[in-house]
Amino acid sequence: MPVLAGQGWGFALVLLRTAGMLATVPVLGARVVPARIRLALALLLSVAVFTGAGAPAVPPPDGLGRLALAVAGETAMGMLAGLAARWVVNAAGSDAREVAAMLGVDAPVDPVRRNLAFAPDPSGSLQLIPMCVDLDTGVLLRKEASGGYVIAYSNPNDVPSRETSVDPAFFEDLAERIGNRFPFLEDLPFDPGQCWAGLYPETPDHHAIVGAPPEAPRFLQCIGFGGHGIMHAPAAGRAIAELVALGRCETFDLHPLRPSRFAEGDLVVETAVL
Ligand SMILES: Cc1cc2nc3c(=O)[nH]c(=O)nc-3n(C[C@H](O)[C@H](O)[C@H](O)COP(=O)(O)OP(=O)(O)OC[C@H]3O[C@@H](n4cnc5c(N)ncnc54)[C@H](O)[C@@H]3O)c2cc1C
Repeated sequence: MPVLAGQGWGFALVLLRTAGMLATVPVLGARVVPARIRLALALLLSVAVFTGAGAPAVPPPDGLGRLALAVAGETAMGMLAGLAARWVVNAAGSDAREVAAMLGVDAPVDPVRRNLAFAPDPSGSLQLIPMCVDLDTGVLLRKEASGGYVIAYSNPNDVPSRETSVDPAFFEDLAERIGNRFPFLEDLPFDPGQCWAGLYPETPDHHAIVGAPPEAPRFLQCIGFGGHGIMHAPAAGRAIAELVALGRCETFDLHPLRPSRFAEGDLVVETAVL
């Protein structure tokens, strides 16, 4: 199994060919088309950080005064009224636009409802699989540690909203697409009580915004993570810590995520919205 990357970070990114995929995710069945499906062996960064596996430590801020406070929104505004903060971090998720506006910054982040379905596994198997994404349809699948399958699909035509009830249209979207790569799921009923929806903080190009805008150079934005914010959290936290502690991010090139890219019209739009 060729290891592509990541070893220095406490995880390994592995390329699986057909036999490896079927061994890792037997439920995929024989309809796997190797060139069109990628298995995200992906708890990667999270696992690396949560287990403390190898990521080098970020140097601490040079004194507590340097990092006066890193909170979002009204809390920050309330404290700013009485405190001098050298840095303020907007990490307000789907409320990021409103929080940014409090300091006169335009942050193009909108809340968009995303739904998850749950299908109990009648076999009772607790065997885990990596999160599997069918890039043909956008349907993705993972196994719950307690058993059963979590299935997601993000319809690119969904409009911004703060609605968090499960969208009935989501099940129709799934029904049309799920058989493409996961035909075994066509016969498994969903458990409505365990289906749920929440809000993605979406940006126009479906990439996060990390860094300070030119008009507010100490108002760091750490927002717009869409459906990747948990997976990106360790890296985002490191980036913000370095910006505060060092005044620059040494670990990552944050240029593609800079807040000014929208005004500059310099976007690389992600088409796989998961
Ligand atoms: C159904 C669903 C499934 C998902 N699945 C995955 C997944 O498998 N993997 C993954 O990586 N990501 C997933 N995500 C996305 C992930 O949840 C988000 O990207 C992530 O939560 C964003 O993190 P955040 O810290 O930027 O924002 P949030 O987690 O939304 O946190 C923002 C915080 O700011 C607070 N806040 C807001 N306004 C103010 C204010 N004015 N004052 C003070 N505090 C304020 C909020 O209360 C909140 O606690 C999923 C999301 C949904 C909805």
